[in-house]
Amino acid sequence: MLITKAQIIVIEDITGEDGRKAGERLRVLYQAIPTCGECGHPMKIRDFVWRTIITMSGCRGRIRVRRLVCTAADCYLHTHPRRNLPRGVLPHRLYSAEVHQAVAEGRDDVPCPPNTLHRILKWVRQMAACLIASGLFPLLCENVNDLPDETAGPLERLKNITGGGEDWFAQAVERAAGRGGGLHWA
Ligand SMILES: [Zn+2]
Repeated sequence: MLITKAQIIVIEDITGEDGRKAGERLRVLYQAIPTCGECGHPMKIRDFVWRTIITMSGCRGRIRVRRLVCTAADCYLHTHPRRNLPRGVLPHRLYSAEVHQAVAEGRDDVPCPPNTLHRILKWVRQMAACLIASGLFPLLCENVNDLPDETAGPLERLKNITGGGEDWFAQAVERAAGRGGGLHWA
């Protein structure tokens, strides 16, 4: 799994059987093709797969995600394609990274029923603990007094470690997806 910066634009509304808007067909505008995470050689597009996401608006969108293979014939990824998700889309998750981050921050204005919200909360907590344990996010503090509060929950700690930017959760997952760190998404 590779997650890279990309723009997602709406190209068409999908109409349901009742004539009302049932979703959106989206287009992913990728930037450059990333290099292989295993050997550093250039990668190339092998094919595309469709997947669904639900965004903060509650709209169900369909996106075409490209799959990449390594151009080096002796590399493992030459014959094992990796999905290239746009930033903001999480591996194997229906709801967007923005929805996950909103849940992680304790917001309840999210487009999902309460039981789904609880499932998402459980997932983001586990993911945060896993990301912290992965060692991909070294603690960038020199003064011992600046050490993060060990009593804070994993979500709060991850937010602090990543700098808490606008899309901190998506960026943390993106980094882990590209580097392994015990998280293996094909
Ligand atoms: Zn390679």
